[in-house]
Amino acid sequence: MQYESVAQALEALDRTQKTEAAYNHAMGVLYLDAATAAPKGSYAGRGNTMEVLSGVIYDLSTSPERGALLSYLESHRQELAPVRIRQVEVIRKNYDRFQKIPAEEFVAYQVLLNNAGAVWEKAKNENDFPSFAPYLEKIVEYNRKFAGYFHPEMAPYDALLNEYEEGMNMVTLDTFFSRLRGTIVPLIEKISKKPPIDDSFLFRTYPVEQQRKFSDYLMKVIGLDRSYCGIAETEHPFTTNFNNKDVRITTHYYENSLASSMYSVIHEGGHALYELNAEDQYNATVLSGGVSMGIHESQSRFYENLIGRSRGFIHAIFPKMKSFFPEQLRDVDEEMFYRAVNKAQPSLIRTEADELTYALHVMVRYEIEKQLISGELAAKDVPGRWNELYQEYLGIEVPNDRMGCLQDSHWSGGSIGYFPSYALGSAYGVQMLRIMQQELGDIFADVTKGDLSGITGWLKEHIHRYASFKKPGELFEEACGRFDPKFYTDYLTEKFSELYHLD
Ligand code: ZN
Repeated sequence: MQYESVAQALEALDRTQKTEAAYNHAMGVLYLDAATAAPKGSYAGRGNTMEVLSGVIYDLSTSPERGALLSYLESHRQELAPVRIRQVEVIRKNYDRFQKIPAEEFVAYQVLLNNAGAVWEKAKNENDFPSFAPYLEKIVEYNRKFAGYFHPEMAPYDALLNEYEEGMNMVTLDTFFSRLRGTIVPLIEKISKKPPIDDSFLFRTYPVEQQRKFSDYLMKVIGLDRSYCGIAETEHPFTTNFNNKDVRITTHYYENSLASSMYSVIHEGGHALYELNAEDQYNATVLSGGVSMGIHESQSRFYENLIGRSRGFIHAIFPKMKSFFPEQLRDVDEEMFYRAVNKAQPSLIRTEADELTYALHVMVRYEIEKQLISGELAAKDVPGRWNELYQEYLGIEVPNDRMGCLQDSHWSGGSIGYFPSYALGSAYGVQMLRIMQQELGDIFADVTKGDLSGITGWLKEHIHRYASFKKPGELFEEACGRFDPKFYTDYLTEKFSELYHLD
C-alpha cells in the first residue's frame, strides 16, 4: 500500500497499534482468568482460543502491510515527533523478530506455554518434577532456538537476557553477582553468630478474611486507586496491566503468615504504581507499560523493601495493623515488628526471602539458566543442580522440589533470562532512593507520617510517566546517573550491620 502523506501513515500506525493492543488485552484477561477464577480443567478450551488470538497477533505483526508502513515511516523519519520515532523503532524490532520465527513455531510455543502452566501447577502441588521436566526441556529448546533467531551474533543466553534488559549480558552479570556475593556471604556469616531475631509472632494465626481487609488498607497507604487497580488471589503473586486505567495485582494468603501476603501486596503494588502513573498518550500503543523487567523490579522492590521494610513505614501503619490483628500482635511493638520483617536468614523460598539473602536465590536461578541454555544441564537434572547450589550459596538443604526448583512459575511461562532483573532491580532502586534523598531531603520524615506522595511523585516524574518511551539505560541514567552497584552493597552493609550490631 502507498501512503499519500505522513499524516495518513500515522493514522494507519495508530490503527494497527490499537488493534494489536486490543488482542493483547483479550489474551491478558484470559491469562488472568486462568490464574485466578478458571476451573482447573478449563485449560484445553482456553488453549484453542489462545491459539486463535495469538495467530491473529502474529499475522498482524508480520503482515506485509506493516512492513510497508514501517518502511514508509522510516523514510520520513525527519518529519516524525520523538514519540513516533520510538514507536516505529519498537514495532520494527518486533517485526524483525517475528519475521525470524516461523508462524507454526510461534503458535506451537504459545500452546506449549498454556499447557506447561497447568502442568507446572499440578507438578508443584504434587511435588512431581518428572511430570514437568519434558515441558521444561521443550521450553528451553524453543528459547535457545529463538535466541539464535533474534541475535545470532550473541551467546544464546545473552540474547535472552537482552529480551528483558536491553544491553545486559553475562559478563556484566557475572561481575555484578560476584560483587554481591562478596558483600552478602560475609554478612550472613557474621549474622549467624548473633542471637536470632524473634519473628515467631508473624506466624501466628492470621485469618485470611482479616488479611484481605489488611491488603485493602495497604493498597490505600501506598496510593493505589481502587477504581483502577484490582486485586485477586493466585498461587504465585503477579501484576498485569491492560492500560494505565486498568491494572491488576494478585496475592496469596497463608493463614499462618502475616508478612507473606503483606509484602506481596506492597511489591505488586509497586509494579502497579509504575503502570498507573504512565501518561495517557501511551495507552493502546507499543509504548504502554513499563520499559524493562529490571526497571519494573526496581519499582516493586523499592516499595517492598526500601519503603515497606523501613522503620518509618512500620511506624506509620503499626496502629492500624494492631487494630486488624489485636490478639496476634498483643505483645508486639513497632521495633519488634521492624526487626522481625527484616530478619536475615538463609531460606528456601525466593519470594519469601529476606532482603539480604534474596540475591543469592536469584544467583542460583541464573547459574541454572546459563547451563540449561548452553546445554550443559538437561531439564531432568535441574533438581540435583538446584539442591547443590542452595547448599553452596545459602548453606541449606532442600527437602523437596515443591520447595525447590518447582517454586517459581517463570520457567513454565517461558521466561528464561528474567530472574537476574530481580537483583538488578534491587540495585537500581537503592540508587534511585539515594538520588531522591539528595534532591528531596529527608523523605523518611513523610514516610513516618504515612505520606508517600513525595516519593511516588519523584518516581512518577523521573520514571513512571515515560512508560516505554525511553530505553531502560537512558531512563535510568537521566534520573540517577551511571549505574553503580556500590549504592546497593553499601546500603545492605549499613542496614544489616545496624540491625544486628555487627562491627
Ligand atoms: Zn515483581
